[in-house]
Amino acid sequence: MKILVPIKRVVDFNVKVRVKPDGTGVDTANVKMSMNPFDEIAVEEAVRLKEKGVATEIVAVSCGIAACQETLRTALALGADRATLVETDVELQPLAVAKLLQAIVAQEQPGLVILGKQAIDDDANQTGQMLAALLGWPQATFASKVDVGDGRATVKREVDGGLETVEVKLPAVVTTDLRLNEPRYATLPNIMKAKKKPLATTTPATLGVDVTPRLVTLKVTEPAKRKGGGKVADVKELVAKLRTEAKVIA
Ligand code: AMP
Repeated sequence: MKILVPIKRVVDFNVKVRVKPDGTGVDTANVKMSMNPFDEIAVEEAVRLKEKGVATEIVAVSCGIAACQETLRTALALGADRATLVETDVELQPLAVAKLLQAIVAQEQPGLVILGKQAIDDDANQTGQMLAALLGWPQATFASKVDVGDGRATVKREVDGGLETVEVKLPAVVTTDLRLNEPRYATLPNIMKAKKKPLATTTPATLGVDVTPRLVTLKVTEPAKRKGGGKVADVKELVAKLRTEAKVIA
């Protein structure tokens, strides 16, 4: 079975992002970019399924600017067999990405698509769900455990107050949650080997997908500065402050 792993290049999670002075977005000039952390988890899960003999091939795909090739090379170093870049300078929104992935799925015919539950830059949490809808495939989102066998995937999902187990028929779309696994680090020999793995490039036009943005960002602002905390002498003072200052109790 072939597994398709979509990967997004995002601002590294350690970077403290700065909003552009004109409020049109986030400043990405000279900022470290990395693979979206949930996508690292998706690659790791695909690699584990291959190590178990469940998957036969892992194809990584990224949609975006030419620099996404670096991110795809990281996926190849982590264990993907080959990669495809859908290259465009247009700012891609989840629906456009889902349509591009739908076209790649039509070409590749994977048995499973594993992608991150959300990208840490736009926090949209939409692409996997939209892709499943476009394909008419079952979806299991926020996976914290995945077992594949007999043409089915059994997925544990973290829900409020516990775990839910769902079973989906393959082909299906699965999105990863934080606790699914701990991704490995790419070793130097694997980074060297990844340079020789195949990386194909295509474009939205070749795939016949219109990626024109449909949403307009009106304004991006910094979060409000947090006020410092204070110390209270005793419970009586705490209760009084909660009542008169915070007004959270009557
Ligand atoms: P989002 O819906 O934007 O929160 O993203 C959810 C997941 O969709 C990400 O974790 C990626 O696996 C995938 N994804 C989003 N954008 C892209 C992209 N430009 N290229 C490839 N995969 C993407």
